[in-house]
Amino acid sequence: MGSETVKCSNCGKRNKVPAAGAGTPRCGNCHEPLPWIASAADGDFAEIAEKSSVPVLVDLWATWCGPCRMVSPALEQLARERAGQIKLVKTDVDAAPATAERFTVRAVPTLLVLDRGEVLARQAGAAPVPQLRAWLDQALSAKVGKETKS
Ligand SMILES: [Zn+2]
Repeated sequence: MGSETVKCSNCGKRNKVPAAGAGTPRCGNCHEPLPWIASAADGDFAEIAEKSSVPVLVDLWATWCGPCRMVSPALEQLARERAGQIKLVKTDVDAAPATAERFTVRAVPTLLVLDRGEVLARQAGAAPVPQLRAWLDQALSAKVGKETKS
């Protein structure tokens, strides 16, 4: 399982962020939350996406899909805006056929909000950042509502 180098937007320090781990990544220098962006395939999807301590935004994409290339930077922007609250996991459906089948992906991109493996929200097709942000925040607030009720 790999790790990505992420530059802290607060102090500029470069941090190594592992694809999976407890808690959420923070800058080693200033302790600000860092955006958490990882890639997963069939073999490590459970470890990276389902065991995550924060809700996971899953980007099910394909190399041959034009709209996927447009939606990918939008999702990375959301991962930066919601650093410490979510994790973005990119899954290439051609490299992860079992995962694609499990979530019955019929079109790419398909976006999911997962909370410990449970699908909180689902969106098929690309959308602009404000729409994706509203969709994501609604899914996250639905989760909070569920927690206060139980
Ligand atoms: Zn920092």
